[in-house]
Amino acid sequence: MYWNKPMETMPRENLERLQLERLQETVRRVYQNVPLYRERMQKLGVAPEDICSLDDVRRLPFTEKTDLRDNYPYGLFAAPQSEIVRIHASSGTTGKPIVAGYTAHDLQVWSEAVARCLGCADVGREDTVQVSYGYGLFTGGLGLHYGVEKVGAKVVPTSAGNTHRQLMLMEDLGSTAVACTPSYALMLGEGLRDAHFDLSRLKLRVGIFGAEPWTEGMRDEIEKLLGIKALDIYGLTETIGPGVAMECLEGHSGLHMWEDHFMFEVLNPDSGEPVPDGEYGELVITTITKEGMPTLRYRTHDLTAVIPEPCPCGRTHRRIRRLRGRTDDMLIIRGVNVFPSQVEAAIVGIPGIAPRYLLVVDRVNNLDVLEVQVELAPELVSDEVRAVEDLQRSVSRAIEQVLGLSVKLRLMNPGSIERSEGKSKRVVDNRSLIR
Ligand SMILES: [Zn+2]
Repeated sequence: MYWNKPMETMPRENLERLQLERLQETVRRVYQNVPLYRERMQKLGVAPEDICSLDDVRRLPFTEKTDLRDNYPYGLFAAPQSEIVRIHASSGTTGKPIVAGYTAHDLQVWSEAVARCLGCADVGREDTVQVSYGYGLFTGGLGLHYGVEKVGAKVVPTSAGNTHRQLMLMEDLGSTAVACTPSYALMLGEGLRDAHFDLSRLKLRVGIFGAEPWTEGMRDEIEKLLGIKALDIYGLTETIGPGVAMECLEGHSGLHMWEDHFMFEVLNPDSGEPVPDGEYGELVITTITKEGMPTLRYRTHDLTAVIPEPCPCGRTHRRIRRLRGRTDDMLIIRGVNVFPSQVEAAIVGIPGIAPRYLLVVDRVNNLDVLEVQVELAPELVSDEVRAVEDLQRSVSRAIEQVLGLSVKLRLMNPGSIERSEGKSKRVVDNRSLIR
């Protein structure tokens, strides 16, 4: 397996010294080359030479997703165009996407970060890795691809889609690892189950899943359906792509952040002040080795907490908890904060229910109404009115208990909630369309 021991197990003191050097270099670079950062730093009265300790990162301005949009496409690039060798872009919901540029050095950093993630999953030269993330502008496919090549494993670049063919290749080529979104992993698993496939025909042993938040319940479901160990990988286009942080096999539910490339803070999203280790806050990332498009204090709006304890695997890079939804994904319904992941946590494991759901929010007579659509598991569809009513009651109670809010529950037929090969849609908020 891939293991960059000097870097991954570097004593904290040395790691922090390296971080400071790299932070100072990055700040100088963006101050010189990116007008937005220079102007913001001048407004805050801070110059590159004022960054004398790691804590001084807090003197630097934040960067938001809107800054990347407003400076589309090249406004935040810190290297000359002649040095940019790759472009990626966010999947983009509306309007212009977010563009990221990479120098040759940045691509090496990225491959190294992903290679370490694969090492965390014990993937090495003997492995065959099926990359079922989408290829193209999206960072998932190519990001994983070059990491797999770096560890010397065999890459099968299937990209996303065509579940039947994915499963056929998985069996025929003897894939030992798969990388995709957790919702797509679930779809692959459901494909196997529906075909009554004998799992012993697969060599698959580990999955690397990310690009959307998921829960422990979903992990259990994927592990059961695919007969594998499922691990969480984290990253975002604005900071490089997948590979910023990864769970190791030994650490259980903590993701090592590669701190020699990415400095991170966990802050109270309202005050911008750091929260104590172990408490949840917003993850803010400063890239400290990127040349093409470094980002200072990028506000991810992802919620996590620092795990202060050292990891049994021996890596010294600190771990963060599995991402628990997003600050801007949070719905406020009748004054109650609701995260889609809470609904998922409530329904997973209820017999007769599949981990598929959709939240539909409406405003009726000036009152917010939350409808939760939940899919029935195929093996447990019952025409018996009594059984369905019982299920309806127990699922409503489970959700209402977690949310502290009454909901309108709709049990849906198996397969009726829209499947997605990329990130799945968890929320339809119709309130913004209503005056
Ligand atoms: Zn570890």
